[in-house]
Amino acid sequence: MSPETVLSAWAEVDLTAIAHNVRSLKALLKPPVQLLAVVKANAYGHGAVAVARTALQNGAEWLGVARVAEGTELREAQIGAPILVLGPMAPAEAAEAVRARLSVALTSLALARALSAQSEAQGIVTPVHLKIDTGMSRFGVPVDEAAATARTLQAMPALRLEGVFTHFAGADEREQSFTREQARRFQSALAALEQAGITVPLRHAANSAATLFGPDFHFDMVRVGLALYGISPASWLPRAEQLRPALSLKSRVAFVRRLPAGASVGYGGSYTAQSTTRAALVSIGYADGVRRALSNCGEVLIREKRARILGRVSMDQIVVDADVCAAHEGDEVVLIGKQGDAEISADEVAGWAQTISYEILTGIGARVPRVYKS
Ligand SMILES: *Cc1c(COP(=O)(O)O)cnc(C)c1O
Repeated sequence: MSPETVLSAWAEVDLTAIAHNVRSLKALLKPPVQLLAVVKANAYGHGAVAVARTALQNGAEWLGVARVAEGTELREAQIGAPILVLGPMAPAEAAEAVRARLSVALTSLALARALSAQSEAQGIVTPVHLKIDTGMSRFGVPVDEAAATARTLQAMPALRLEGVFTHFAGADEREQSFTREQARRFQSALAALEQAGITVPLRHAANSAATLFGPDFHFDMVRVGLALYGISPASWLPRAEQLRPALSLKSRVAFVRRLPAGASVGYGGSYTAQSTTRAALVSIGYADGVRRALSNCGEVLIREKRARILGRVSMDQIVVDADVCAAHEGDEVVLIGKQGDAEISADEVAGWAQTISYEILTGIGARVPRVYKS
């Protein structure tokens, strides 16, 4: 019996789609521009270790994570490739980051001192990437402090300045003027480093949107997340059609029942059957990542037809209209992905929930098993 026949809800991850996406993204880069595969947040819900291995096997040189623990998870899986911790980390996490041989986004001198002390104590030289704040105003060193900070870093023998980077606030917006302004500010920080006689091997700025946009923002390396998983950050971006979505979220019809006219469904009775209605119970709920905002408005696929969600999404179940799709017990239910010619994309689900596909994918519950197809 395949696992799908006994699981109530599962996420199918097509590793051949990830491989295809990595290869087609890599083909956009002019050698020797490198590709960093962003696998933070459990690879956007797809499973960090499996995605990391697939990305590395298909041309990615680097991995990116947000937290130290995400980096150590990859090391524990015997992944030896360079890993950059992108997020800000506490000086108290320096020992673990050094021990795991992670490259670290350098966001403050306090962190630099902690990393330097830990690296010396462990007899390791830790690579750091200086993060420049060019307009996101979350974290990073201001442009006019870049050169001075880099000089301070260079005076710490246990740290090696391996990279310098920034992050775009709106590369997915059609209006590119702020992205261009951020790129200009980044260039001026790079020029200041150069004037100070500091050479940095890896300069990087581009996320998925800026990578797809074209070579203007590629520098020495691009950091690709969403596009790796087969989703374009914006429909207007070029090459979106080359990407293949890798994840499907699936469940099964547990029961089909006939509701009499006037029956109300679920918590709060927010749906009332107007006439006799066949309703199917599906074993997936908001604890699995089905947003409660889909109550009475989202749809699922059953027998290649769309079925509306009736009433509120519960923690472990939803009820869907079984009339149009003629659902039967045991039928496969697709919440994200394809069924025959029918398809529900993560973007469509995000629209129902008034959010973005990133939040839909990363919100898939930890209890949902990931089943890999390769
Ligand atoms: C998450 C992240 C990325 C990837 O962004 P996508 O839009 O998913 O490609 C790139 N860089 C940094 C610093 C990030 O935190």
